[in-house]
Amino acid sequence: MTPIVQAQGIHKRFGRLEVLKGIDFEVAEGEVACLIGPSGSGKSTLLRCINHLEKINAGRLFVNGHLVGYRQRGEKLYELRDSEIAMQRKDIGMVFQRFNLFPHMTALENVTEAPVQVRGESKAKARERGRELLERVGLADKEKSYPGQLSGGQQQRVAIARALAMEPKLMLFDEPTSALDPELVGDVLGVMRQLAADGMTMIVVTHEMQFAREVADKVLFMDEGVVVEEGPPDQVIAEPRHERTRGFLARVL
Ligand code: ADP
Ligand code: MG
Repeated sequence: MTPIVQAQGIHKRFGRLEVLKGIDFEVAEGEVACLIGPSGSGKSTLLRCINHLEKINAGRLFVNGHLVGYRQRGEKLYELRDSEIAMQRKDIGMVFQRFNLFPHMTALENVTEAPVQVRGESKAKARERGRELLERVGLADKEKSYPGQLSGGQQQRVAIARALAMEPKLMLFDEPTSALDPELVGDVLGVMRQLAADGMTMIVVTHEMQFAREVADKVLFMDEGVVVEEGPPDQVIAEPRHERTRGFLARVL
């Protein structure tokens, strides 16, 4: 079976700073991969490359069997047009640390915006699906609320519902609970847990080691632009092989 994500020797530089120094990994359909590692190790950059927000400098990145950002003919690569990139990005949902909801739209309008504007769904159909999604994230009673009237945890759950509204094949989460008050973290992780149980393919950057242990199929520990260690959570988190992984875990656990 083709993996949903295949990264082969990914390099990414910002000017002279090399941030990703040859990243290889795969995520199969239905798998949950948790990406852990110290601040500045390149985790967000890697997610942004997968979601077309950054261009890689070398290597090959495939999402859902498609080469990200390029078309290959023979040995040559051609950059995709914006419309083609938009097509590729529709398979990917992303949730950021900051919720990035549209502040002037209700929860339901936030969720239905893209299906109507980008996919041309009818408003009625988008609203019906939007209500189902808000129910799925535990916010059936908040459809008329504006982001400013919701807690951080509720806003983040709306952001998850909004990403799901495009029916992505892959969900990327970049520290989705890091900006939340501790008592609100559990509800967001609960929604993500359910999503994983429902079979969604997910890559999650997180410092929530308990979540990673329970939900991840594989954990990748990144440091200074490389994947130092990869394996099932019981190995990487419970019995890390590398000194650098042990040092990191000692600081966050
Ligand atoms: P992490 O998410 O693991 O904390 P990042 O991927 O955000 O790490 O950043 C990795 C490195 O790349 C850091 O040194 C950061 O300062 C640098 N970096 C990230 N984005 C940019 C950018 N747009 N321009 C220049 N440097 C960047
Ligand atoms: Mg980051």
